[in-house]
Amino acid sequence: MTAPAIELLHVTKRFGGFTAVGGLDFAHMPGRILGFLGPNGAGKTTTLRMLLGLMRPDAGELRILGQSPGRARHRIGYLPEERGLYKRMRTNAQIAYLAMLKGLPRRDAYQRAKELLGYFDLSDFARVRIEGLSKGMAQKVAFIATLAHNPDVLILDEPFSGLDPINQQVFENVIRGLAREGKTILFSTHTMAQAERLCDQLVILSRGRKVFDGTLDQARGLLPRRARIGADADLGFLGGVAGVLRVAPPGPGQPQWEIQLERGADGGALLGACFEQGIALNHFDLAEASLQDVFVSLAGEEAQAPA
Ligand code: ATP
Repeated sequence: MTAPAIELLHVTKRFGGFTAVGGLDFAHMPGRILGFLGPNGAGKTTTLRMLLGLMRPDAGELRILGQSPGRARHRIGYLPEERGLYKRMRTNAQIAYLAMLKGLPRRDAYQRAKELLGYFDLSDFARVRIEGLSKGMAQKVAFIATLAHNPDVLILDEPFSGLDPINQQVFENVIRGLAREGKTILFSTHTMAQAERLCDQLVILSRGRKVFDGTLDQARGLLPRRARIGADADLGFLGGVAGVLRVAPPGPGQPQWEIQLERGADGGALLGACFEQGIALNHFDLAEASLQDVFVSLAGEEAQAPA
């Protein structure tokens, strides 16, 4: 059986009397993409810092590629939330410098910087100082610096922040390509759509505790499906149709009737019931719960619970 590339066993981190991360467990397999989600202050960055060996847990254990974070550090590429670039350095030198710190010989480091700047369409900026780059360009350079030493594990803290939609797409494609090459990727994000598009596995944290660990389908399966139906009629009778959990009339910000269905319930039964009543519909759609819905439901419930 393949061993996990990243493994956390009952990891706890406290700051004074405050538990920022409490008893966190998860395993992430090689060549896969894990989305690490949670509201502000949930403990994501603290966990990433422990994975990098920048901070030690008060209890529990973290393993990367079967090693302690300290021993695995040359095999990890880390994109910090605050970028960490030197303003006065030229772009190519900055990338090469960070790659050399991770053990790449100087000539190889400059060669990698050149190739990656070309790939990210930044060749013309190789000799420009970091302070002369736009926010999005600096984010690309920070990402390049994360990749330059060809790490096996990539840990990315909010990799999409500051990027326009086109560059978000570029990053998404690069991340998918790296996973296809067998690299293991863990990234934190507040953007649910990106997590939905990219991730094989999701871990959701709230107030330092894991509230979900599984696939997108498993996450969506936690909430009922919903149908939205538009009609100039009272559809309250749909509450009597098999598999219907709840019927909500149109309201502010919701122009259609919203019907919550049990998992596996047949949306066609709703159409049939409307047809039998001779009701003309002007809208019908059926959708799984979104990750956003699941996130709000899980993290929201947790946030409202007493500490
Ligand atoms: P965000 O999405 O806002 O970046 P996060 O999930 O990354 O949040 P963390 O930065 O890990 O959250 O912080 C978790 C909690 O730990 C917060 O309440 C924060 O104030 C606290 N915390 C983090 N670092 C320290 C520190 N060095 N000293 C004291 N408290 C800290």
